[in-house]
Amino acid sequence: SVPRGTPDIDPSALTIERTSSPKRLLDPKDLIFGRNFTDHMLSIEWTAQDGWLPPRITPYQNLSLDPSACVFHYAFTCFEGMKAYKDPQNRIRLFRPDRNMYRLNRSSSRIALPTFDGDKFTELISKFVELEERFIPKQKGYSLYIRPTMIGTQNTLGVGPPGSALLYVIASPVGPYYPTGFKAISLEATESAVRAWPGGVGDRKLGANYAPCIVPQIDAAKRGYQQNLWLFGEEGYVTEVGTMNMFVAWVNEEGVKELITAPLDGTILEGVTRESILALAREKLEPEGWTVSERKYTMAEMKKAADEGRLLEAFGAGTAAVVSPVKAVTWRGEEIKIPLSPGKETGPLAESFWNWMLAIQYGEVDHPWSQIV
Ligand code: PMP
Repeated sequence: SVPRGTPDIDPSALTIERTSSPKRLLDPKDLIFGRNFTDHMLSIEWTAQDGWLPPRITPYQNLSLDPSACVFHYAFTCFEGMKAYKDPQNRIRLFRPDRNMYRLNRSSSRIALPTFDGDKFTELISKFVELEERFIPKQKGYSLYIRPTMIGTQNTLGVGPPGSALLYVIASPVGPYYPTGFKAISLEATESAVRAWPGGVGDRKLGANYAPCIVPQIDAAKRGYQQNLWLFGEEGYVTEVGTMNMFVAWVNEEGVKELITAPLDGTILEGVTRESILALAREKLEPEGWTVSERKYTMAEMKKAADEGRLLEAFGAGTAAVVSPVKAVTWRGEEIKIPLSPGKETGPLAESFWNWMLAIQYGEVDHPWSQIV
């Protein structure tokens, strides 16, 4: 964390160097997630001696790092994923940026990288997205994906706390996740690899958590499944799906309609979408007789619920897709079918959450989660 006495991020010291060669905007329909970037980037260097140095917005450009920089060897890297949206009045909005700032500080502190004042960094991100305003498509469903990243930059092969770091932000205009309507996915409950474990770092957004998940994802894809359903332990606890939090709706053994998701026990990422869906569910579903639970549940319970006709719905939740309806989970060679609404690629709950979330994110309803830039 920031050593006592060294300065925090100072938005008033921001300098802006504008690009002399603005990029041509792509036709929104040609946008591919995370492939095209805006004209500029925001960078803030940190040293153990001087703390956070003056923030800079510069043309988007390569980084120049020594091959010994610790990020390349010991994975001193963490990141965030958040979005800027245009509302009907053409104003730019961020969705719960305080939650991303909280999480980035939790990630960076876990790998001996510095922490920072989240409100001050959000102020800078707001200036950055204002400058990149023309890259945020106006149509609903489109947005500007924002990628804050922090890396350790010290030149050393010594394994120790980085004496210098770089916090930077790049942004990529993105299209709607479901351009032609929802597409429900099939999952493979993965038992050959484990994403996270108690005492590990699965609850932090560290680069080191992502690379090891690609081979299991390729293996599942070869067998025809879109995502891994990550399990933990001999009990087969359901944790997350791909890079999303997992929700299941069922009529539980007591005969009560229950929306359930794994608890924040250190083995799942603290998703902003997860937290938001839980709050919406408590507000909108509990008065209708639903129970909303953050507790452990197993594949065996899901299978039993399906066999007894009690399984109602399942979906993933994350910033990219908001909700991702699940139509089947294959576990130990058996396919568990999950109901969808008649003639649709989603169940009713996932569709409701999607509608409620988008209305807030795009500023169609007034809500404290949506912050005008
Ligand atoms: N789990 C993992 C492993 C993730 O990478 C993400 C994406 N950040 C999520 C869950 C969903 O989190 P959020 O709703 O904050 O995007």
